[in-house]
Amino acid sequence: MATMQKGNNTPSLTKKEIEILKWVQEGKTNEEIGLILGRTKWTVKFHLTNVMKKLDVASRTQAVSHAIAYGILPALRPIGTGEKGVGKLRIGLIGCGNGGSAMMELLKDNPVVELVWVADSNRKAPGLKIAKKLNVETSTDYVSMLKKKVDVVVNVTGSREISEELRQSVPTDVEIMGGVSAKIMVELFEERRKRMEERQKMLKEHEALYHLGLVIESIDSVNDAGYAIIDYATKLTNTPAGSLALFDEKNEDMVLVAAKGFSKQFKNIDRWEIRPGGLTSKILNQDGPMLIPDLTDHEEQNPVLLREGVKSILAAPLTVEGRIIGILYVNDFKPKNFRVEDISLFSLLTVYAGLTIDRVKSLEETRLLSITDGLTGLHNQRYMMEKLQGEVHRSKRHGSPLCVLMLDIDHFKKYNDTYGHLDGNKVLKTISRLIQKNSRGTDTTCRFGGEEFCIVMPEVEKEGAIAIAKRLIKSIESDKSHHRKVTMSGGVSSYPKDGKTHMELIKAADKRLYKAKAAGRNKIVCS
Ligand code: GH3
Ligand code: MG
Ligand code: MG
Repeated sequence: MATMQKGNNTPSLTKKEIEILKWVQEGKTNEEIGLILGRTKWTVKFHLTNVMKKLDVASRTQAVSHAIAYGILPALRPIGTGEKGVGKLRIGLIGCGNGGSAMMELLKDNPVVELVWVADSNRKAPGLKIAKKLNVETSTDYVSMLKKKVDVVVNVTGSREISEELRQSVPTDVEIMGGVSAKIMVELFEERRKRMEERQKMLKEHEALYHLGLVIESIDSVNDAGYAIIDYATKLTNTPAGSLALFDEKNEDMVLVAAKGFSKQFKNIDRWEIRPGGLTSKILNQDGPMLIPDLTDHEEQNPVLLREGVKSILAAPLTVEGRIIGILYVNDFKPKNFRVEDISLFSLLTVYAGLTIDRVKSLEETRLLSITDGLTGLHNQRYMMEKLQGEVHRSKRHGSPLCVLMLDIDHFKKYNDTYGHLDGNKVLKTISRLIQKNSRGTDTTCRFGGEEFCIVMPEVEKEGAIAIAKRLIKSIESDKSHHRKVTMSGGVSSYPKDGKTHMELIKAADKRLYKAKAAGRNKIVCS
């Protein structure tokens, strides 16, 4: 109604009719209006009947509110020109139980309605308290209140006695709303309030999902995505804990990616096997979410979850195009029956989660591929050069040592020529494995190209690097898995003595590698 605009459908009222309606809006009776206009109250009534017909309404108060909606009358008098509530529909309410309270809650924010008084013979009626908070006059005796001027008296008590009394003592220009019509009104109000609440909640939830979508867009690691998803899942379902695990296709087990609200011991779980008939296997075989309101009653006991004190579980498999990606769990430490809306929202979230994890996983794989050498699994030259550049900056800042080792297989052409390229590749793989085995987590191991390798060793002094290099070529020489003994030569350079930039360090190491070749191979040169 309030959004109705003045337009072609606006009923046309005469000047006199509008004038009369304004007086009605001011709260005047037909008699008072008649006195102002110098006419009888019957004439006023006649005009108002015409107005009601034109506006298609059944009462004078409705005529006012429709005229306001059509823009024929102003909604309220300009501020400061009249007494409080002038122009509003003034209501007196009898009955302050649940119905009356609900009505008050709805009326309190209505700009064209003013609740003038409320009454209930029961001193403890909940609505009386609400009314006091709203600064509305209250009474336990409605009869005394009837002296106050209102437009409508609403009787929600359902008492026949009261409605009879009202009919007799309320002036004719005051509407009485009672019995079924008041009940319907309250029910409609209540229905509207509930719907508004639902809508508000839904809006909030969808806003949360939308926000998750935005956050997830910018996430590029599986771990970060896992934490973001759990955070939203637990918030949406109002639960204190949750976790996300991925299904490892190769090992056919589960890998814990992220957990919230659990002990350190739980968070340290790396992976777990999928026991046939166990909880994980049941969830994975399920189409939608699985709800366990109380784990202690459940046939399938899970010692890890019980140790954590988990009582209720809501879990669903994450799938993308029929492929199983993982499981999303939310948990509570008390028995809980999740609401239908929570479950459906959770389902929606698992769709998001599945797609996101899948996208981020392939992003991670692509990124890994782009910095890895396909044959050996070591890093490629591009990645190593970037890393070395970073390490040079770090050493410069902290004054820490840094060494580079370049390695090349001796007479590898001959090996290939004798035993074939494929067997040559096997040698490359073995050497790579030994290189990895002989280096620390902070080292960068790389296949520089062909049969050349490079190791960047931060925080290692030259003597240390030489020792590592010697041990490495010794282990390669001792390896017996090939047609014949394979040896390597190497050159070591160290920052800042042999080079101040990454390129200078590589060049210095390379130069020494060729020195080693010239000096008979199977050796490490460092100056
Ligand atoms: P040197 O001791 O002087 O290093 O002798 P070399 O034969 O190892 O040196 P050269 O540079 O002449 O030959 C390198 C050989 O490495 C040539 C090529 O056949 C081989 N090679 C390079 N990349 C690969 C690869 O990916 N697989 C195999 N099997 N061989 C490769
Ligand atoms: Mg070479
Ligand atoms: Mg070679």
